[in-house]
Amino acid sequence: MRYALHAWTLPARKWLEEGHRIRHGDRNIPFLTLASSRTHDGDDAVPIRRMMNMQRSSRSHLPHTAAVLSAALASLVVAQASLAQQAARAPHDLAGTGASFSNMPEVPPIGARIAKYLDVPDAAKGPAIPAGKGYRTERLGAGLYMVTDNAYQSMFLVYESGVVVVDAPPSYAAHIKTAIAEVTGKPITHLVYSHAHADHIGGAAMLGGRPIIVAHAETKRLLARSNDRNRPLPTVTFTDGYQLKVGSQVLELQSRRAAHQPGNLFIYAPAQKALMHVDVVYPGWMMWRRFGLAEDVPAYFDAVEAVKSYDFAKFVGGHVARVGSREDVVVQAEFMADLKAAALKALQTVKVGAEVNPLDLGNPWAVYDTYIDRVAASCVNALTPKWKRRLAAFDVYIWDQCYAMEQSLRID
Ligand SMILES: [Zn+2]
Repeated sequence: MRYALHAWTLPARKWLEEGHRIRHGDRNIPFLTLASSRTHDGDDAVPIRRMMNMQRSSRSHLPHTAAVLSAALASLVVAQASLAQQAARAPHDLAGTGASFSNMPEVPPIGARIAKYLDVPDAAKGPAIPAGKGYRTERLGAGLYMVTDNAYQSMFLVYESGVVVVDAPPSYAAHIKTAIAEVTGKPITHLVYSHAHADHIGGAAMLGGRPIIVAHAETKRLLARSNDRNRPLPTVTFTDGYQLKVGSQVLELQSRRAAHQPGNLFIYAPAQKALMHVDVVYPGWMMWRRFGLAEDVPAYFDAVEAVKSYDFAKFVGGHVARVGSREDVVVQAEFMADLKAAALKALQTVKVGAEVNPLDLGNPWAVYDTYIDRVAASCVNALTPKWKRRLAAFDVYIWDQCYAMEQSLRID
């Protein structure tokens, strides 16, 4: 059993203040329910609460659970008493946690461990990975295939005398040659790097041989800096666009203003009407935290618009379990527009200095941190009703997105 110690502070205090009781059972134990959490819209199919991570507890573990809980509670009470004494002695020292902000969202903030995130909607799921295989291959048309472990995605393109591989995620790169062998006996002659990040190309060395490696010049610069033997340096680079023509097959490679990372390519297969652009659009899903770790948030918004500008029917985003559609890109753009509007409104309406402990008013970092937290909370509240069931993992990363959006709106 694991403990969510880092999530104990504020919820634990609220729990003590409110005298919540532990309810034993073979399901969750709603032990650390946040005082201000509430069920928004009468929709309690999946109540989101901060709890100890005890969902794995079963009846057979209950005696142990109860014993550990009792011990934990005893130490909590002691800790609480000790904190109270400290606070009485020296109110300027770290003194535990204060009351929660007003209107705290039902979605727990960063750092709180919860028992169970919202269920993944069926529309966000992909075909299952065959048992024991570790990957699956999906035909995108006319010699173009996606390979995926349902978390990462790469492609390969078969032409008359060989195969072009696009990306080699280390999580399943060892299977890429097998996946190709299931389709053709031709050798890998080319490897395209979508961008420099190790989680997408760190399996390149596993492909073996000496393929021609094509990438943007910025990608080569970043890889030279990384000096990673698992990511061999590109042998062909370019600075704007590049047409990779192999036999009768074509891949159009294009770079734009750096958003996720400099050199991140738009990889377009015109004959197949397939577009690959990695770490920017997440079909059916909330973006990975902070706009997929975008280096430039305004450019990230532009990148999503650039994706829309291509004539594609199938989109490979480098992540999630399934191929994306044009509709997926439109939905993400709509979410991003809502996010931007919500963060902007929160920045304009939340007051700096409100809900700050008066003892902290001489600490501008604390005053502003309180403001930023409350802006994010307002942003999360605004987006939750519409989006919590439309994008998978909305609850996992919405706080990250609101923080990233408000920061960008203030400084970019
Ligand atoms: Zn990346």
